Amino acid sequence: MADSVYLDHNATTPVRPEAAEAVVHAMGTVGNPSSVHRYGRAARRLVEDARESVAALAGARAPQVVFTSGGTEANNLALRGTGRHRILVSAGEHPSVLQAAPSVRCVPLQRDGRVDLTALAAMLAEDCRPALVSVMLANNETGVLQPVDKVVTLARDFGARVHCDAVQAAGKIPFDMASLGVDMLTLSAHKIGGPQGAGALVVADDLPVEALVRGGGQERGQRAGTESVPAIAGFGAAAEAAVRTRGMMRTLEVWRDRLEDEVRALAPETAIHGKDAPRLPNTSCIGWTGMPAETQVMALDLARVAVSSGSACSSGKVHASHVLTAMGETAEAAGAAIRVSLGWNSAEGDVDRFLTVWRGLVANRRAGDLRSPAA
Ligand code: PLP
Repeated sequence: MADSVYLDHNATTPVRPEAAEAVVHAMGTVGNPSSVHRYGRAARRLVEDARESVAALAGARAPQVVFTSGGTEANNLALRGTGRHRILVSAGEHPSVLQAAPSVRCVPLQRDGRVDLTALAAMLAEDCRPALVSVMLANNETGVLQPVDKVVTLARDFGARVHCDAVQAAGKIPFDMASLGVDMLTLSAHKIGGPQGAGALVVADDLPVEALVRGGGQERGQRAGTESVPAIAGFGAAAEAAVRTRGMMRTLEVWRDRLEDEVRALAPETAIHGKDAPRLPNTSCIGWTGMPAETQVMALDLARVAVSSGSACSSGKVHASHVLTAMGETAEAAGAAIRVSLGWNSAEGDVDRFLTVWRGLVANRRAGDLRSPAA
C-alpha cells in the first residue's frame, strides 16, 4: 500500500519475492504428491525440497519435519500428540499452546518476561508422572527470549520431554534443534516471509507423535491430508531466504534501539516491556499509559502506520495482554502497550514515520492534560 508503513511483522510478514515465485511455480504443477506417476513425483519433489529447506532453518534433518497448516496446528499436535497429560507451559505462551489441551498448567514468568525456573523445578517435582514442558523460544509480544537450554536441562532431570514454539524466533536469531536439545519445535511460514497456511512441527527421532488429523498416511502418518504443495513450496523458499538474510537483523536492532531511545526521550514515563531480558532484535513492546493501546493503534492506522496492541479483542471486549499481566504489570499498563515489529523489507524511514506520528499523539495528550482542570 503506497504511502503506508507496515510495522507489524510479528503478526505476519510480507511474502518474500522468492516465496511468491515458488508458490506460483507450484500452482502451475499438476499432481498429488502421493501419486506414483510422473506428475505425482514432480509434486513430491517440491514438497521434499521444501522439507530440506525448512529442516535447515531449524538445524534439523528433513525426515523430522511434519508439515501442518500453520503454527497453531503444530502447537496442538505437539501438546496433544505425545499422550502425556501432565503439561507445563510458560504463562506467556501463545494461545495455541495455552489452549491446546485441558490439562495445561502455567509456569509463572519473572518480571523481566523470562520463565521462573525455580517455579518450573518445583512443579516438575510435585508429581512423578512423565511431563511435557512447552516453552517458547521468543515471545510474540515482547520479543523476550526464553532460557530454553536451561529448561531442557531441568526437564531432563525429571524425565520430561520439551516442546519449543520457535515461530517468532525463526529467521530472526540463529538456533538449532540439536543444541537447544528440545524434542519438538514449531515453525510457521507466514512469520518468515512465506504464505499463510503452512507450518511445521519438527520432531525428535525417538519421540512417537500420534496424528490429530487422521484418515490418510501422509507425513509419515503424523498428519493426514493431501499436502498443500504451493504453500509448502513457498514455505521452503522463505526458509532459505530467511537463513540467507538473517544478518540484516543486526541493522533492524539498531533501528529498533533508536526508536526506543527516542520514544523514551519524548515520554520518559514510557516502559519498554522485556527490555531487561535478552530479546529479539526486531520487536519493541511500548507501554505508554497516556492512551489505551487500541486508541493508539487506531490513531497510528489513521496516519497510515500499522502496529498492533498486545491486548486481544473478543466478544466486543478488550482484554489486557496475558503476557504483560504474567510479567506482573497492572491491567492498566497491560492494556496500554503497543507492539512495533520490523521485518525483512523495513526501512529506516519507517521508524522515522512512526516517531513523527507518535510524537503527535504524545503532544496532543499533553495539550489535553494542560487544558483539563484535573491535570
Ligand atoms: N506461536 C506464536 C509465538 C505466534 O506468534 C503465532 C502467531 O501469531 C503462532 C504460534 C500461530 O501461528 P499460525 O498463525 O501459523 O497459526
